[in-house]
Amino acid sequence: MSNVDQQELVKFEKMAKSWWDPQGDFKPIHLLNPLRLAYINEKSNGLFGKKVLDVGCGGGILSESMARAGANVTGIDMTTQPLRIARQHAQENQLEIDYQQITIEEFLAKHQEQQAERYDVITCMEMLEHVPDPLSIIRSCQQLLKPNGILFLSTINRTLKAYALVVIGAEYILKMLPKGTHEFDKFIKPAELLNWCDQAELDCVDMVGYHFNPLLEKFWINHDVSCNYIATLKPISDSM
Ligand code: SAH
Repeated sequence: MSNVDQQELVKFEKMAKSWWDPQGDFKPIHLLNPLRLAYINEKSNGLFGKKVLDVGCGGGILSESMARAGANVTGIDMTTQPLRIARQHAQENQLEIDYQQITIEEFLAKHQEQQAERYDVITCMEMLEHVPDPLSIIRSCQQLLKPNGILFLSTINRTLKAYALVVIGAEYILKMLPKGTHEFDKFIKPAELLNWCDQAELDCVDMVGYHFNPLLEKFWINHDVSCNYIATLKPISDSM
């Protein structure tokens, strides 16, 4: 029994071709990426030379930007087409990124078997709301982190505002995302995320929300986590 929702993967397989089209299905992610990259770079004291794992990397928008910042990036995802696009795009841009089709749980098992070096930084962006068991993902990430490593999780809060903006606004009115991309019931409240992180022995050191102005087509970050948000976590033993 793997921690994968096949129906969710089908949605991303279908979106693969337009992954790198700035006006395509991933337009919001393209617009957001510089902002989240800057946040990750700042919180991890620079990505240059860091060993980074991008969980649920899809077509590689964040993976590539971290590689450009000098990180040594491995990207994992369970889809076929988005990974094919990711590999092709990285090659065209002369970026060396190790893309693998594997779940984080299997990746962890292999990693432990090989006693490989753990990661300085792990990112898992916009994926937890698409999996059956988010806690299992968080636990696996924790076990792959160095004692002083840092984990970034982003997802969507389960609020009326998020429903209005992400589902109705982005999917139905602005048509920035294909209809049915998100299921409201699977959105995650910050308290739920923090509870899972607690169970996984991770300490939340920062949490911010990101917001979109459709007229200006601009994102910005502040402390309002009522919609999309990103959390920075560290293994508990290190932050005590
Ligand atoms: N993290 C990327 C892509 C987000 S889209 C970014 O923010 O730019 C969500 C991604 O999660 C998709 O590529 C989807 O295939 C992947 N995904 C969903 N369930 C997964 C699972 N169980 N294991 C690995 N990847 C998964």
